Amino acid sequence: MSYVTHLESAIDGTRLDHRTVETTHADRPLWVRYDLERIAHEVDRDELLHRDQSMWRYQELSPVEDPASIVSLGERMSPLIRCERLGQELGLNQLWIKDESQLPTGSFKSRGLAMAVTRARELGISRLVIPTAGNAGGAMAAYAARAGLEAWVFMPSDTPAVNQAEAAHYGARAYLVDGLINDCAALIRTGNAAMGWFDVSTLKEPYRIEGKKTMGLELAEQSSWRLPGAILYPTGGGTGLIGMWKAFGELATIGWLESADLPRMYACQAEGCAPIVTAYERGERFATSFPNPTTVASGLRVPAAIGDFMILDAVRESGGAAAAASDQNLLEWAARAGALEGIAVCPETGACLAVAHDLVADGQLDPDEPVVVFNTGAAQKYLEAIAVDLPEISQPVDWSALADRQG
Ligand SMILES: *Cc1c(COP(=O)(O)O)cnc(C)c1O
Repeated sequence: MSYVTHLESAIDGTRLDHRTVETTHADRPLWVRYDLERIAHEVDRDELLHRDQSMWRYQELSPVEDPASIVSLGERMSPLIRCERLGQELGLNQLWIKDESQLPTGSFKSRGLAMAVTRARELGISRLVIPTAGNAGGAMAAYAARAGLEAWVFMPSDTPAVNQAEAAHYGARAYLVDGLINDCAALIRTGNAAMGWFDVSTLKEPYRIEGKKTMGLELAEQSSWRLPGAILYPTGGGTGLIGMWKAFGELATIGWLESADLPRMYACQAEGCAPIVTAYERGERFATSFPNPTTVASGLRVPAAIGDFMILDAVRESGGAAAAASDQNLLEWAARAGALEGIAVCPETGACLAVAHDLVADGQLDPDEPVVVFNTGAAQKYLEAIAVDLPEISQPVDWSALADRQG
């Protein structure tokens, strides 16, 4: 049983049937729509108290038709961690990190792909394909393996080594492509007819948004249904930012929120690939493809996002903004966060912290408002980017000199 009523084109509102396989409409993404009025009448928020502490606990706002079909690796609710020391460094007295690095496969990509693979299986699909520059390939491969579906993964040849290895480790047919993620996508299109595969690329099917939406539902529940003043989110394809904004709208409509104030959404990118920031600054609703995209934050290396207008709409409706950080800056902030809080902060999230620093400086973030930053992946997956040269030590050691040395 589900409360889904239909799919809706995000670009022109066209209604489509949710029980048939749908991808995009007019080459733009689809929303999953629910009977929110019925949910408001029939479902009491307190029912959640009796449910499993996982992303699947919000079943009325989920597109899954039969709970028995859920493909899961144990997606626990991710912790919302108060960060006093890092907050002090940034000038924020109420800083929280929602730590998604603890999810299966070490990134929040598991939320979207667990949902997409679940729905793919419910719809009778058996062969999945994805272009990826980072964590999505491993997550898709893992859930496909779990579901017994065939997984094909195409990635740029400079994709981080861990991401290459994990796709293969989870049994996918993984290939390297000389080019960028968009070249991988173009290559996949040439195989469509022969392979008959289903493309689970970012926003090219409607269900990854619904999986990532659970970040926003969890955040609301963990904050006693009062949302923070601001959310900083590392934005590549934008699924998470779009999903959370959708979640907040749905929660407001069904009357579960304690306050009508919704957070300002900040889309954070890397200076080497900042198409959303460029469009935001120009006041445009659609982004143009970012030339020569380069950044160590591989999850942000998305030069052209098919959901650009959905990201920009959410950012503007919420009263937030889009801003970018340099690679050097984002790596420094990721390392600082790790050292101050013991959290495995990924380079992508380093961009959010660098942006937070700037936003505090020009008064866009209030030092006393609650601010939530999403740590979307585990630092351990970025060995090349976070590599350090440790000093060597050998006998005899001058211990007192060593003790005096600062950090
Ligand atoms: C994919 C990814 C992102 C970007 O996520 P979107 O929701 O597609 O914008 C950010 N951080 C990490 C670690 C990622 O893997």
